[in-house]
This record gives sequence, C-alpha cells and structure tokens, in this order.
Amino acid sequence: MARTIELSRVRNIGIMAHIDAGKTTVSERILFYSGKTHKVGEVHDGEAVMDYMDQEQERGITITSAATTLTWNEHRVSLIDTPGHVDFTAEVERSLRVLDGAVALFCAVGGVQPQTEQVWRQSEKYNVPKIAFINKMDRVGADFFGVVEEIKNILGGNAVPMVVPIGKEDKFDGVIDLVKMKAIYFSENDKGRTIIEKDIPADKTEKAKTWRAHLVEKSAEQEDALLEKFLETGDLSEDEILEIIRKATISRRVIPVYCGSAFKNKGIQQLLDGIVNFLPSPADLPPLINAGDDDSIIRKHSDTEPFAAMAFKIIADKHMGKLTLMRVYSGTIGAGTVVYNSTQKKNQRIGRLLRIHANRQESIEEARCGDIVGVVGLGETKTGDTLCCEENPILLQSIEFPSPVMSISIKPETRSDNDKMGQALRHLSDEDPTFLVSFDEETAETIISGMGELHLEVLVERMKREFHVVAQVGRPEVAYRETATVAVQGQYKHVKQSGGRGQYGHVYLRLEPLDAGQGFEFVNEIKGGHIPDTFIPSIEKGIVKAMLSGPYAGYPVVDMRVTVYDGSYHDVDSSDFAFVEAARVCFKTLFLQAKPELLEPVMSVEVVAPEEYMGPASGSVCQRRGRIESMGEQGAAKVINGMVPLSEMFGYSNAIRTMSQGRGSFTMHFEHYETVPFSIAEEIIKKRREANKIR
Ligand code: GDP
Repeated sequence: MARTIELSRVRNIGIMAHIDAGKTTVSERILFYSGKTHKVGEVHDGEAVMDYMDQEQERGITITSAATTLTWNEHRVSLIDTPGHVDFTAEVERSLRVLDGAVALFCAVGGVQPQTEQVWRQSEKYNVPKIAFINKMDRVGADFFGVVEEIKNILGGNAVPMVVPIGKEDKFDGVIDLVKMKAIYFSENDKGRTIIEKDIPADKTEKAKTWRAHLVEKSAEQEDALLEKFLETGDLSEDEILEIIRKATISRRVIPVYCGSAFKNKGIQQLLDGIVNFLPSPADLPPLINAGDDDSIIRKHSDTEPFAAMAFKIIADKHMGKLTLMRVYSGTIGAGTVVYNSTQKKNQRIGRLLRIHANRQESIEEARCGDIVGVVGLGETKTGDTLCCEENPILLQSIEFPSPVMSISIKPETRSDNDKMGQALRHLSDEDPTFLVSFDEETAETIISGMGELHLEVLVERMKREFHVVAQVGRPEVAYRETATVAVQGQYKHVKQSGGRGQYGHVYLRLEPLDAGQGFEFVNEIKGGHIPDTFIPSIEKGIVKAMLSGPYAGYPVVDMRVTVYDGSYHDVDSSDFAFVEAARVCFKTLFLQAKPELLEPVMSVEVVAPEEYMGPASGSVCQRRGRIESMGEQGAAKVINGMVPLSEMFGYSNAIRTMSQGRGSFTMHFEHYETVPFSIAEEIIKKRREANKIR
C-alpha cells in the first residue's frame, strides 16, 4: 500500500495547559473545525468528545491522555492529550516523549500559572518546539500582551505575537493576522466556521506594522540574507516570513503566539494554521539513536527504514480488551504481523491496527513512520517498550516514570467485589506505570501505591465507576525507602545438615551505595569457578528478596550496587535454594553495617493565599519540617513555594483552609527523596518494630 499522506504533512502534537485554561474547549473546537465532529460540545453539558471517561467530565480535569487524529489543510494532525495536573506527571512525561511539537495554552486573565511552568520545563527537557495560544480573550481582565511578557519573563520563551487582538473582553471581535496583514473576523451564525477577512482598521495600522516588524526581526535573527533584505527593503514576502518562522520555531528560537476565545469560537482556525505551518513533521526530526550497547545503530524517520515504534500508553477497554497506543518512528508494519519487543526480548503479535478519531476507531491495514495508532493484541507489551523488527533490532530510550510515593490499603466491600477487584487493579496498573499493586502477607491486605492522594483517589473512583468494585480505603502511608551510606563487604555461609541431603551455599558480597535514582545493580566477579554460573541467578534472587523488605525498617532498599566476588560450593549439597538463602542473609547482615538511612519523599509545595494570611501560611510550611524556597505574587494573592516532606502534609488542606478562612489553597507534587533526620527515623523504626513490620 502506498502512503496516503506525505510525511512532511504529518503533525504529532499535544496541548499543554494549566487546568481550566480551556484545553477541553480548545480541543473540541479543533475537532469541530477540522470536520470530525459536527456538533460543538460544551464542557458543562458533558458532551465533550475528548473527555470520554465519565469521571473526567465530572472533575473537569483531563486525567488520561488519549490520541485522536484529524485533518487540516491537507495535513494529518494527531492530537495527543497532555494532562495539566501535576499529580499525573507520568502522563505528561509519556505524551511529551512521543509528540513532536506542542501548543502551550494560557488563559488571557490567569496567564502563566505555576503548573504550566512545570509542564513547560518538562517539554524543554524533551526539546519540544511550541506555539502558544492565549485563550479566553473575551473574559474581563484579558491581557494579551501581559501574557506574552509572562511567557518571556517567567518561562524564558521567546514569545512572538503572530496576531494582535482586535478589542478585548466583551468587545473582542477578531485578530489582525501579522503575516497576511489582514483583519480577521468570525461569523456568529455558523459557530465561527466562516472567516471574514477585511482590511486592518485605520486606528490599528501602526500597531500592526510595529508588531509585524518585531515578528520578522525576531524570526530572522539567524537568517542573514533575509534579515539584510528586510533591513534594505523594509519587508519580506508572505512565504519568506512563513519559512523563517517555521525554522525558528523548530529550532526553538521563537514561540509564535496566537490568541482567541475558544468558547466564543474565535481564533481557533488561525491556531490550526499555526500548528501545520510551524510545528515540525517527523521528517524534520533528527534520527533516533539506539539506547542499547551499540550506539552506531540509528533509524531515520522514513518508511524505508526497518520498523521501530514505541508503546506509550495502554488503555483497558471494556469491549476491545487491552489497547496499546504506539508511535511509529520508522518503517511500516501490517496488521496481523509479528514484531519484536526489544525491551522485553520477546515476540509480540500485532492484532488489529486502529486509527483513533475522537468518536470512533477505524481499522487500518498498516501503520507507517510518523503514525500514532492503536494496537489490539500486544499482550505483554508495557508502556515505554520498544517494538521493532527482529532482524534489525533497536532499543529506544524508554520513558522515565517516578516510583510511587504513597500507598493505602484497600479492602473490597463485599465478596463479589473481592472477585472483581483483582482484575480491576490489574487493568488499572497496566494502564498506569506509576500505580503499583502489592499484597502485604502479614496483614493480608492489598496495598495500592501511587503519586499522591489525588492520584489514588482517582484510581479508587475509577474502580468503582468502570469496574463496579466498591472498596474501603485505609489511611494513606508514605512510601519510605532505605539505602546504605558506606561500602562494606563480608561473607556468609549457609550450611545445614539434617539427615539426607544437606544445604550448602557460601558467598562473599560487597555492598556499595549508588547515587540517588540509580536503583539496583548486580555485579558478578566470580573467577575460577568458585561458584558455578548456574547459581549466580540464585544469588541475585536472594539479594533482591532481601531488598524488597529492607533490614533497617522493612522498606524497599534502593540505590545500591551489590557485587558477588567470591564464595564456595559443595558438589552434592549446593542448590539454588541454598544460594538464595546465603545471599539473602549475607546482604541483610552487611546492610546493617553499612550505616543505613531512611529516605522519604519530599514534595514541592505551593501555597496561594491573600497577603494577610502569609504569616501563618509560611509558619505552617516551616512547622512541617519544610523549607521556603521563594515567595511571589499571583494576581492579588501571594504565593509561597517550598519543599516539605510528604509525611508532614497529611491533613494540610484542612489546616490551610482553617488558617485562611477558606481563602487559601495549595498544590503539591513529588520532587525527590531525601534522608529522614535520624531522630525521626528512629521513631518510625520503633513503630514499625512494634507493628512487626521489620523481619
Ligand atoms: P480545561 O480544564 O483546560 O480542559 O478547560 P475547559 O475547556 O474545561 O474550560 C474551563 C472553563 O473555561 C469552562 O467552563 C469553559 O466553558 C471555560 N472556557 C473555555 N474557553 C473559554 C473562553 O475562550 N472564554 C471563556 N469566557 N470561557 C472559556
């Protein structure tokens, strides 16, 4: 089959926004104008097409990212939903990994919000080119140029207006297009579908000229020939301007800025033009480099290269079962073929291939370079896995997911809930790599862990709605970890002689602390067959077992390298079990000599309150073992940014409400793990010992 659309006409983009900036409404209008939906759905009447999960409609937060494909001006645009809530960092990370460009959405009144800042920083980490859309120009207090300044000053983006608004608040009528140098208005009777182009009103001509010159100067900064022409003749052609802005946007030197009112159906078509004109196609991207050992293996973004794709999202669908969303980076793949999962080193069969539209799925025969498609049938593939062809394998850089910081126990309410709960939890943890399920053998409780209270609350709620499982939740608990701070080495011999065949395993281990976030590394330095190769995996298994429930406080051990460097075995009595035991006990003993420490999740916290409550609010951060990092303003209110251990944040919403008479609020997200002060660690360990959690 031939390509239906040239690669240079493919756009894979996301919309990044603060909650309430209007992402749902903007996406809705984008789908409407591109002709896929014929009815304009409003968020408040619960018809929004993108928000297909019940709970999302109610909460008004876009929780789960989905992908939908639309056509604009002979381009195929895949819109990958990027959630704005920081409790869903994993969702943001994964969508940024597979999109090629983004629209940063701002409210014309609220401007740059702290949460936008975080998502913006993440997008910079992945080198994502952006254009901006300043929405809600019809609202009282709308300030287009004010927000442009904020993008420059707070986010450090070189924001360049592509349009200038005509009027504002309830007099916001349209925009001046600075490339065409025309005034653009939107008809009232067909939801703005018809665009009315007029000459620029006389009183706006000077302003338009000034901003057009600004636009050209900023974009042409590195285009000597064109800049010269501009300086000599005073202008450039429309095509020349489009070309330099495209280059400048893709190389992330400028952020073209549009504006409008999604709600009042104004300005969205210009934004769509901006998306196809300036954001990159896969053909503009550098080749992918193998993340495995051999970095000479590369893949160009082309249909003729060997197949390579990444699974970036899994959706548990009631009708279809497991649906995997995949971004194809190179080559082509047909429905019904077998692919190689190079992350897991196993073959997987692609069942059906689907192109996902906002309200339906279309079966397709094949997927090609640049496509974002749904796959049915990839049983064991997980989020972040690479799929490729077995003869020409490649491993793509996986998606980084933070480990959960909080857990709660859950109990099914009835016996029938009990049966369904396991399945529901499996589905949900398949979808979300930051959501883990475990079973505490001691208490016979199911424990779910995630990125925060809201995250877990949402998952429990989804269990109820989508899987009809009612569960009672316990008290939230902090996910502490333990690690060692000095290197130690030593040996342990596991010997038992009890009638018949005995047990013999003998290991010498070296424990070394690694930098935070490095996880676990196992090294085998056995020489001369002192321990046969067949027992090495058992040694690793014994260490992993000991690390799961650490010797210091019963929490998982992280950031350690463990080397087995010597040992001995017995021809008859040595067994896998004996080496598991030898390694487990050896690790346990050595770990306690390695000056262990307890680590706790520390949250970046932001408190917003009117000025008169700033005293008690900053006091409340300090009382909770927090550090204040900065103080600022947000509109009329004051903002405190700080770092506070998660364990101190329980019940904070009530505290803040009480101290500010309901006028203050806060948000927080996981930042990193830090050492728990010794006296507090001792307290925690004492309680754990009493509750029999340390074995
Ligand atoms: P999201 O949380 O970013 O997805 O934002 P929504 O699309 O749900 O919008 C939040 C609220 O702002 C809703 O009540 C919308 O109707 C409203 N809204 C969205 N766009 C505009 C706009 O252009 N002007 C005004 N006045 N309200 C808007």
